[in-house]
Amino acid sequence: MGAYQHILLAVDYSEHGNQVAQRAKNLAEKYQAKLSVIHVLDNIPMPDTGYGTVIPLDKDSGYELLEAEKAKFKLIADQLGAAQANRWMVWGAPKQEIVRLAEREHVDLIVVGSHGRHGLSLLLGSTANSVLHYAGCDVMAIRLLND
Ligand code: AMP
Repeated sequence: MGAYQHILLAVDYSEHGNQVAQRAKNLAEKYQAKLSVIHVLDNIPMPDTGYGTVIPLDKDSGYELLEAEKAKFKLIADQLGAAQANRWMVWGAPKQEIVRLAEREHVDLIVVGSHGRHGLSLLLGSTANSVLHYAGCDVMAIRLLND
């Protein structure tokens, strides 16, 4: 197996997220790989305007939710030492957007948690399962045990 050059960590802010992030960070250090991080906004309504997708500027609940998501994302990305250009927050379905970004950015390893918010009772959550199925590169699912 050759050295990984570009690792993508998918974060969902679930309880065990730090464990997953730490593994991705260690792998990036080990392989001296570029480390990118993605969070997919799947629980905030996407603002829809005639000009396409924009971040809402009104002080409404959507805005506040988005700001909170951005703050959480920044904290994790800062802890990982991810470069600004390698931080991705996108709207959509996590399983699709993670795979899409990985292809576009020539990622060779995706790191996900075995389960997160959507798969608490499962051995392998739905996002991890789908990413494993559809990604064109290696996928590492960090085994998270239920408490
Ligand atoms: P789940 O399918 O919710 O059990 O999540 C399994 C793993 O998929 C999580 O540990 C994350 O690594 C990733 N994941 C889930 N939801 C998202 C999301 N909205 N954005 C980025 N990654 C996610």
